[in-house]
Amino acid sequence: MTLFVRAHKRQWAWMLLALFVAIAAGLPKAGAAKRDLQVYFIDVEGGQSTLFVTPTGQTLLIDTGWPDNEGRDADRIVAAAKSAGVTRIDYVLLTHYHDDHSGGIPQLVDKIPVGTFIDHGANIDTKPGGPTEKIYAAYQQVLATGKYKHMVAHPGDVLPITGMKVTVISSDGNVIGHPLPGGGETNQYCSVPETKPMDHSENSHSLGVLINFGKLKILDLGDLTWDKEMLFMCPVNRLGSVDILVVSHHGLNPSSSHALVNGIHPRVAIMNNAAAKGGAPQVIDTVLQSPGLETLWQLHFSEKGGAEHNTAAQYIANPQGADLGNYFVLTASPKGSFTVFNSGDKQTKTYAAK
Ligand SMILES: [Zn+2]
Repeated sequence: MTLFVRAHKRQWAWMLLALFVAIAAGLPKAGAAKRDLQVYFIDVEGGQSTLFVTPTGQTLLIDTGWPDNEGRDADRIVAAAKSAGVTRIDYVLLTHYHDDHSGGIPQLVDKIPVGTFIDHGANIDTKPGGPTEKIYAAYQQVLATGKYKHMVAHPGDVLPITGMKVTVISSDGNVIGHPLPGGGETNQYCSVPETKPMDHSENSHSLGVLINFGKLKILDLGDLTWDKEMLFMCPVNRLGSVDILVVSHHGLNPSSSHALVNGIHPRVAIMNNAAAKGGAPQVIDTVLQSPGLETLWQLHFSEKGGAEHNTAAQYIANPQGADLGNYFVLTASPKGSFTVFNSGDKQTKTYAAK
């Protein structure tokens, strides 16, 4: 009898230990619960690289940053993946082929396993010997190895990633032709008279996506330009409201019309600018003055305007001066609450569900 009880106790101790180990192993890092979505806004100094880690453990990287700098941007992506507890990128979405978005592809695939590349189709900046043509050729070489799956996305497509819903809004110069759930109302901000510089480069062909995660909506249009924004925001807003806006085009003036920014009235906007790239005073003002905005976060202080054309200092990852590589992490609950962590000052701001 005594022997039996002892054995029984030992068994319980082992079971408890096994349970503890299983729970500890399953906990994502940086305080996120297993059901949460994590988004790393990596600093690539005025390019884009945004890493999504879904509750099912899948990963989507939107853009790869710049080439050169001895693989700096690929190193920063790998560091973000490590911090999130993931060892591969399931999907790399290329918004377009400019060097600040697709330049880091060869360096990235050397440093971390990648599953599938998603893009808008053929490059349109085809000037022979030009920087975009070179970047595109390097990407075609990577695809030609046969190691990766490849998808071309079209407006209205839903990407195959699990744990969040990713709907394509724009691709290859075309935009979504019907309102999405929550959209379909007349957009009052279309009456604001506005003319912005025209841009007929790869920017206008950006592959843009709307992400639904629980009650939250996140919009990332790459460098999509204002003439394309007008097509799905005027006269009818086909997107409805959006909680988190990744400010298009690093905050450069050919993007971010009032019809888009005011029309979707984001609670939070995150700008992937550099000290001397993007962060145009007009765009920062548009975002800061948009109705319902709670916070604009900037990866860098913008030297194009004074403090009055920048967000408050605590919402800037990299203050004036040398680049520090500081980033933001957004952690979202499917119930609609979320936090933004600034690796610069190590502070976290919490947003209650609405
Ligand atoms: Zn860009």
